Amino acid sequence: MIQPDRVVRSTCPYCGVGCQVDLYVKDDHIYRVEAPFDAAPNYGMLCVKGRFGMDYVTHPSRLRKPLIRTNTDEPRSVPSVWREASWEEALDLVADKLAGIVRQYGGDSIATYACAKATNEDNYLFQKFVRAVLGTNNVDHCARLCHAGSVTGLQLAIGSSAMSNSIAEMEHLDTFIVTGSNTTETHPVISNFLKRAVRKNGATLIVIDPRRVEMTEYATLWLRQKPGSDVALWQAMAHVVVKEKLYNEDFVNERTEGFAEYVESLEHATPEWAEAITGVPAGDIRRAARLYAKAKAAAIYWGMGISQSTHGTENTLAIANLALMCGHLGRPGTGLNPLRGQNNVQGCSDSGGLPNVFTAYQRVDDEATRQKFEQAWGGVRLNPTPGLTVTEMVDGALAGAIKAMYVMGENPLMSEPNLNHARHALEELDFIVCQDIFINETGAIADVILPSASFAEKDGTFTNSDRRVQRVRKVIAPIGESRPDWEILCDLAKRVETRLGFETSAGWEYGHPAEIWDEMRRVTPAFQGITYERLEREGGVHWPCPAEDHPGTPYLFEEGFPRGRGKFWPLELNRERELPDEEYPFILSTGRVLYHWHGGTMTRRSRLDDIWPEAIVEMHPDDAGTLGLQTGDWVKVSSRRGQITLRVLVTGRSPAGTVFIPFHFAEAAANVLTLNEVDPRAKIPGYKVCAVRVEKTAPPEGREGLDVPLVDRGAIKDMAEQIH
Ligand code: SF4
Repeated sequence: MIQPDRVVRSTCPYCGVGCQVDLYVKDDHIYRVEAPFDAAPNYGMLCVKGRFGMDYVTHPSRLRKPLIRTNTDEPRSVPSVWREASWEEALDLVADKLAGIVRQYGGDSIATYACAKATNEDNYLFQKFVRAVLGTNNVDHCARLCHAGSVTGLQLAIGSSAMSNSIAEMEHLDTFIVTGSNTTETHPVISNFLKRAVRKNGATLIVIDPRRVEMTEYATLWLRQKPGSDVALWQAMAHVVVKEKLYNEDFVNERTEGFAEYVESLEHATPEWAEAITGVPAGDIRRAARLYAKAKAAAIYWGMGISQSTHGTENTLAIANLALMCGHLGRPGTGLNPLRGQNNVQGCSDSGGLPNVFTAYQRVDDEATRQKFEQAWGGVRLNPTPGLTVTEMVDGALAGAIKAMYVMGENPLMSEPNLNHARHALEELDFIVCQDIFINETGAIADVILPSASFAEKDGTFTNSDRRVQRVRKVIAPIGESRPDWEILCDLAKRVETRLGFETSAGWEYGHPAEIWDEMRRVTPAFQGITYERLEREGGVHWPCPAEDHPGTPYLFEEGFPRGRGKFWPLELNRERELPDEEYPFILSTGRVLYHWHGGTMTRRSRLDDIWPEAIVEMHPDDAGTLGLQTGDWVKVSSRRGQITLRVLVTGRSPAGTVFIPFHFAEAAANVLTLNEVDPRAKIPGYKVCAVRVEKTAPPEGREGLDVPLVDRGAIKDMAEQIH
């Protein structure tokens, strides 16, 4: 039995559930991970990623020293040649380049990616550096690519975009809807609480999803709508609620506006009308509407199936309309809950990693707010114009308006849609700097790579999907010469300030992330009551928490909505931008699998890659039969934007006519195929629907005769549950 040198409590670095982990360390190596049974939000549970996926931290390919690209006279399409550099040299080079670009073209010619995997403190300093030193609001992050549709829709409807409810409420649910979320694989521990609600409480679960996700096995009712037809379905449910007078009249009168106009817009939206569009039987739509509306308390949970759409805002508004009408908000077990993806995507947004807001959604174009931040940051003048979103940054690079890109811990060359377009755009840039723990696909074309410390090598906080701020603790020393992001940023900010001749320093002297958090909460009313001392004592606190004697807010909207009254939004039915035709006859949908995480930068450098080592395309047995394909056959999947080669997994999980490809695998990157059309308001791309063709092909070079049988790993029972 190994005796640990120490056991350190921290927060899982993978998904937004924010599970608490006890990390067992021997000789600066994490050799075991346990879940404390007495700690929220996971109470002893972990999924396979949290339990077995931490070995990436000490993977041999971790960056140990800063790297500088030497073949800068060649185009970026030529593989980079690197040399190691000292921190002094690398930071001086980055500072020279960024200051030079600011002087020549202005700060708005620089685009930056904050990081949904880094801490709140890292991200607060990142946006401070971008705004106060570079002079631009061009800061955004991958929230744009996962939940921007939810954020925009919820802001319009109620003025707040975070989850309404806490994870702790889940197992006591009465009735709930899960839509556009393969919760078992994307938020495994949350799925366990939801399943418990069904098994132990007898809760009513309605699943609305085109895929036969595992949650359908627990559902009272499963509505299998055609991909992209969500708005029609939700409108028809609202129609039923109105016609059968099931709405909550008191709630509508006291807490909402625009109901009469909305009701008028629903007249045509009968269940029969929706059946023709969605493929869901009208009787099932009526039943779902009645179950939801008549429940004592009902909550709605959704994932990227709702938000990652060119009409993600409308999808969210349609859901919010139904919840407002039924009065299922402002009480435990009611609410609107977008399940956030990355471990700290909520925190990165809360910390100001967005182009239009400072911390906790305080607008950059509001004069009084800007003055508050100018004063807090040493008297700098701040730019009043909201910046570019990540999708606009890519287009800006192609158009020549963006000259440089600073990417902290993200990987646009895996996460952007239409990757060939994105790659072409980024190759046009004058200067790219990546700050990361590994060289990923974006780092491979960067001019400078700054090695940062992983979550296990630094202190700070993450904010999970239910707004719970929790501690991240240093467990081992930084690998090689890597440094915490916040330290790198302080060092760099001072250098750029000097080169730009700043008279007043915005202040870049911090001894510990706790000091950064204290600065952050001083300028953010919603965080003011959360201190590091309190987090040590209580384990976590839900914001808003305006004072140190305030208990935090596990569920929202008891008293009212941030926008005042909840607003009903009449909706038009939007069609998908690209639908199947003779040439490209299948709908492609993309998403995650249990064993991998997003662009695969971490999980593909972990033992998890042994369990699920390659990309697959899921295909319905009817379609596979028509094309003469069997599980394990190699196919070429093409769209109007590119093609990839991978193996087929024949399964009834996706409906006939739809194929599904996980987006974790660089060698068969699903986003080569996806469409870079965006929701006009949220600017989120429609990753869930585009048209593709599938053709049998020969194995790629090096794979001939080497293939192991493909196992339907998705059918393996949820490991989180087995472990618990
Ligand atoms: Fe980590 Fe999410 Fe799994 Fe919990 S459910 S162990 S936070 S990946």
